Amino acid sequence: MPRPITAYIHPEAVRHNLQIARQKASGSRVWAVVKANAYGHGIERIYPALDAADGIALLDLDEAVRVRELGWEKPILLLEGIFKQNDVKTAEVFGLTVAVHCDEQLELIAAANPARCIDINLKMNSGMNRLGYTPQEFGRAWQRARTSDGVGAITLMSHFANADEGEVDWQMDRFDAATKDIPGDRSLSNSAGVLWHKRAHREWVRPGIVLYGGSPSGRACDIAEVPLRASMTLSSEIIGIQTMQANDTVGYARTFTADREMRIGVVACGYADGYPRHAPTGTPIAVDGILTRTVGRVSMDMLTIDLTPCPSATIGSKVELWGERVKIDDVASSAGTIGYELMCALAPRVPVSVDSQDLRFL
Ligand SMILES: *Cc1c(COP(=O)(O)O)cnc(C)c1O
Repeated sequence: MPRPITAYIHPEAVRHNLQIARQKASGSRVWAVVKANAYGHGIERIYPALDAADGIALLDLDEAVRVRELGWEKPILLLEGIFKQNDVKTAEVFGLTVAVHCDEQLELIAAANPARCIDINLKMNSGMNRLGYTPQEFGRAWQRARTSDGVGAITLMSHFANADEGEVDWQMDRFDAATKDIPGDRSLSNSAGVLWHKRAHREWVRPGIVLYGGSPSGRACDIAEVPLRASMTLSSEIIGIQTMQANDTVGYARTFTADREMRIGVVACGYADGYPRHAPTGTPIAVDGILTRTVGRVSMDMLTIDLTPCPSATIGSKVELWGERVKIDDVASSAGTIGYELMCALAPRVPVSVDSQDLRFL
């Protein structure tokens, strides 16, 4: 028997969340962002739920090819563009749209001399200072791209540094000023822009985390009013129970001490499954639907929980590490990270099951 841990993927939740993103940015076309293997969900598993998207965005060439091979005929965007000469050929053969953030990428495209022009998203660094041309360079970059061999349609793209904290105007002002005389579609918004910044919607939006029911800010309370559904449930079972007396401790480093007699449950899930080791005592978790808390250190293969609120819990009781009941953002905040990281860090050893009941609604 395998250990009783399973990650359930709910494609119907992704379909539902995509619909919400569409409604929020109703005038825009939507790139569904599925980088990092669909934020750890598995592109193939959620692919059937993406048909309402106008395009699929990611950054791994192999993932782009996988999406084409699944039968996707609409645009596919490589968010970091191409890296090597050979990539231009792949982009041409599979009809990929590529981000262009520096002259070297334009040179790669021109040097490959593609028979079919490649559509690009010309990227401005409007303040993030990661990828892109500065606002001062942007007009020249656009002129160069426009006359560059092998380049097709040009969309103007930028990315926000703190849309989740409510600040995008400083970047949009720079972007708008530097592009006011340049034609073409615009693409600015990540999930935070989609939810919170109408001004940033433009012709295209690029939601990622909201498709999976996560909060762009990492705080569950910020999306409390948005009816998103969790697209991943990490589920396990209680495999051991201990009764501790006052002053007994649990686990490595003895970080939790009982102040009275209490029952604790041992759950088959640890940091080698992708559960954050930094989650301290008090991190939310549910047993048979009842919310409780972790106690003590998370170990490699197990973690321990307080069974005080769940007196009927036994070995074999179902535990939700995160999902619909336990918000992944709450687990993440408790551990000092964001839901994005937990989704992406789901370990390969965890068996994954597509929620087939969910699929029936597709
Ligand atoms: C990851 C990414 C997105 C999506 O971001 P979310 O915060 O997950 O919505 C959008 N645009 C670019 C360029 C990205 O890299």
